[in-house]
Amino acid sequence: VQRPGSGEDGIRHTACQTVGGSKTNINKAAFSRSHCDTIRNRKNALKKYCFSDPFGLISQYKNILPKKSIYHGGIAMQKLEKLYEGKAKQVFATNDPEIVMVHYKDDATAFNGLKKGTIAGKGVINNQMSNRLMAYLEKQGIPTHFVKELSERETLVKKVSIVPLEVIVRNIAAGSFSKHYGVEEGVVFEQPTIEFSYKNDELGDPLLNTYHALALKLATPEEIKTIEDYSFRINDALKAFWLTCGVTLVDFKLEFGRLSDGTIVLADEISPDTSRLWDSKTHEKLDKDRFRRDLGGVEGAYAEVMQR
Ligand code: UDP
Repeated sequence: VQRPGSGEDGIRHTACQTVGGSKTNINKAAFSRSHCDTIRNRKNALKKYCFSDPFGLISQYKNILPKKSIYHGGIAMQKLEKLYEGKAKQVFATNDPEIVMVHYKDDATAFNGLKKGTIAGKGVINNQMSNRLMAYLEKQGIPTHFVKELSERETLVKKVSIVPLEVIVRNIAAGSFSKHYGVEEGVVFEQPTIEFSYKNDELGDPLLNTYHALALKLATPEEIKTIEDYSFRINDALKAFWLTCGVTLVDFKLEFGRLSDGTIVLADEISPDTSRLWDSKTHEKLDKDRFRRDLGGVEGAYAEVMQR
């Protein structure tokens, strides 16, 4: 038997009482409505009590509390603490020590961080494009870090320790190659070139050769050989792929990583941020050079190349 009015718990009780041993004549619809109200009020009161966090524990420990679960291979993957934040991406730990979660941002930088800006929607495009290209390269026999795309901006990748070498492969003269060697942009090479930079922001990513890389112990001779071999094979595969989209692959930057067992895999991203992509007919730039050189139409170029 419940009495009408507010109880000690603040829940408004409904009329459903017995009078002289028989039930009062309560309209059925009104009863079921008020009955539902009672249940809803109780649930709300319970929710309020459970989630009121009177000691501030949730806000205090929110960074280490398990977050929303994402399933991968039937296993609940949890996004845990942020491990790293770079210019264009954030990396989060997961409950699998061999897997991390990458989140792609819209932030853009150029000239070693001197120019900063935002390219609306870039994170979504780079995430999806990089994943598709990595999946394509896997099919061509190139091992990559790609595991699973989770959302527009988030992807699970294998955890690697990055080899501190930026590998640049070029098919056509542009950018720093044109500047260093006085070659007009657009000159097509008879065969692709490869170059390495020491991945070190403080030093401004200086160019180095493989002997320097060995002297600095950045990689072993076998690793450098594997990286060179993969890079040229990736160039062949990507050049052919982009050609079918009416896009010329001018040059691009790659990064490789070591899995826990030492296996070298392609890591980081392949996107218009890290590649020069020109329309094959008009030579219109469909990449980050539009941002670097203030050419305008940056978002449109990224969307165009993604659509192709
Ligand atoms: N690149 C990159 N990150 C860098 C430097 C270069 O992704 O820190 C890419 C760039 O997008 C281009 C290629 O590597 O596709 C060759 O770049 P380049 O050496 O010409 O330097 P830039 O002209 O971009 O300064």
